[in-house]
Amino acid sequence: MADLVQRYLDALVAEFACVTDGALADYIPELTEVDPTGFGLTLSAADGFLYESGDARTEFTIQSISKPFTYALALDLSGPEAVDAKIGVEPSGDAFNEISVDEHTKAPKNAMINAGAIAAVSLVPGASPDERFSKIQEFYSACAGRPLDLDEDVYRSEKETGDRNRAIAYMLTSFGVLADPDDVLDVYFRQCSLKVTSVDLARMAATLARAGTNPQTGRRVTSAKVVQRTLSVMVTCGMYNGAGDWVSAVGMPAKSGVGGGITAVLPGQLGIGLYSPLLDGRGNSVRGVLACRAMSEQLGLHFLNVSRESRATIRAVYSAVDGVRVYEMHGDLMFAGAEKVARTVDRDSDGFSVAILDVSRVDTINDPARLLLAGMSTTLREAGKLGLLVDPDAAVIRPGRGFDDVVFSTLDDAVEAARLWTDGPTPPRRRRSASSSD
Ligand code: GLU
Repeated sequence: MADLVQRYLDALVAEFACVTDGALADYIPELTEVDPTGFGLTLSAADGFLYESGDARTEFTIQSISKPFTYALALDLSGPEAVDAKIGVEPSGDAFNEISVDEHTKAPKNAMINAGAIAAVSLVPGASPDERFSKIQEFYSACAGRPLDLDEDVYRSEKETGDRNRAIAYMLTSFGVLADPDDVLDVYFRQCSLKVTSVDLARMAATLARAGTNPQTGRRVTSAKVVQRTLSVMVTCGMYNGAGDWVSAVGMPAKSGVGGGITAVLPGQLGIGLYSPLLDGRGNSVRGVLACRAMSEQLGLHFLNVSRESRATIRAVYSAVDGVRVYEMHGDLMFAGAEKVARTVDRDSDGFSVAILDVSRVDTINDPARLLLAGMSTTLREAGKLGLLVDPDAAVIRPGRGFDDVVFSTLDDAVEAARLWTDGPTPPRRRRSASSSD
């Protein structure tokens, strides 16, 4: 049943693989040499479980997706006062490499444009560029849960062709934002040249989604306060000058890079990593944006989707009679909660022949969660097992949708049907009470 999520992501990748709009970044030769058809998508659940599709493990350079992570590290190591004194938190609406500062404060407008990102590097303490870079590399690696390496060729090219970034760094020096422009730039070029995969980006996003704890390694890499600030800036400034469109249509704090990556965070719930190097006019991955829009809409991932916080969804799991396992759910059931239920049932499936999902205590359920639970009956049946629902208020499956034979008003009725089936097995009979049937 966790297969349902996998199949959904595979279908999404297949659908958007046909889109060939956009162009490779061409400001350095290395980026023009990548395979334009590369397309990878990874979703990490809040507990670190991964779904990977397409070229999920293809490496590419992190580029601007480095910016929120260095900003987080600067906040962590230098504190918010020192960081706020040098970098603003206002969307600029300008191109990412605009040579500009806020006209009143003379500080970069935010940490997601190059000026702010270069200033953020200077706020990571270090006696030498190497020391600064190691802290940055170690921090990204802790978020990704594996050591990340440098692409030496990209680094060399970034350095050779980085005149615009040099102009920005020298301008910042003239305004007193930083003191050592060449050293800071060297670290900035290196951080942009670290290699990641969509899996790494999903894990890094999941670490932010979990308020600074990497769900895979269990290591706390930063504080919840730092994450909150970082996500705030990602929401308003993360997608180049397309941030407004992004927030309306997708609604997940995110950051893209000209290497073709996107990392997107649904706080408390999941992290997404995408890779497809064909970029739109703003510098965002064309397929990456399409896939994020589709997932947000179809899985209900917009962070302003007005639902209560998704709480522990599974209230109890127990065996009612031999071979019959009951899963009691409660609270608000959204996509991420239903995915967890699907995966738990999947994991346990060797140990039962009938699974009863009791949703009578669920307060709210949205359509993506409804579809996932409804699909579970079908996949269990395909596996020669039976999935029954206790759904007295028809919250999951509306009457007349073809699932009547597996929906029951009370747990006792469902257990009785399960018992008959495990003795039989004959198809269970419908037991919905008259009041809830139509
Ligand atoms: N290394 C690039 C630069 O600073 C990063 C560009 C990006 O991903 O936006 O110009």
